Amino acid sequence: MNMIFLGPPGAGKGTMAQLLMVDEKIPQISTGDMLRQAMKAGTEMGLSAKRYIEAGELVPDEVVIGIVKDRLQADDCKNGYILDGFPRTVPQAEALGQFAKIDVALNIDLADEVIIKRLSGRRVCLKCGATYHTSTLNGSETCAACGEPLVQRKDDAPETVKNRLAVYAAQTAPLIAYYEKKGVLKTVKCEPHATVQENYAQVRKVLELA
Ligand code: AMP
Repeated sequence: MNMIFLGPPGAGKGTMAQLLMVDEKIPQISTGDMLRQAMKAGTEMGLSAKRYIEAGELVPDEVVIGIVKDRLQADDCKNGYILDGFPRTVPQAEALGQFAKIDVALNIDLADEVIIKRLSGRRVCLKCGATYHTSTLNGSETCAACGEPLVQRKDDAPETVKNRLAVYAAQTAPLIAYYEKKGVLKTVKCEPHATVQENYAQVRKVLELA
């Protein structure tokens, strides 16, 4: 199944996609992760993406479209994939439609106030990519998986989060209607107090996976 995960930043797209990737044995393709890796590696693309990412703005369409087009050629995409964070604009969705057939666009819905709380407490391990929330870290500042120090993503700072939500509303939310019109939209409402596993069970149910 070729899937897109839609939804505001912090809705849990990455967490849900990682769980599904393991259970369904299909890759999670996160443009945000790929851009951050390029930034870390100091490639030309990474350096040009940096200022957009750190301001909470979108990287230009042609850059991300190129990355995704290349990535979908890889062998591991043959049996399906989860696009996490792409497309984020209508032109990206139109370009994607030229080189991929999307079976499901899953809209992961969560209230804005929960998102702001989630993102401001999010901590990430720059080495292995694991994510945590301060509320469950019990004061620990290192990654439980690899022992590296945890950091706050620059774009998780409160002012930048506000901008990311505004960018989402203006440029990405129209994709909900776009995919609804195409007849492939499914929506899952994540409850603020539900556990990751409870939300994941909902995601599987909506996707009609046993
Ligand atoms: P994410 O990890 O998905 O929240 O993405 C982090 C940042 O990477 C976003 O705020 C954008 O600056 C950039 N980015 C990721 N995916 C895209 C995309 N599809 N189009 C444009 N910018 C993107």
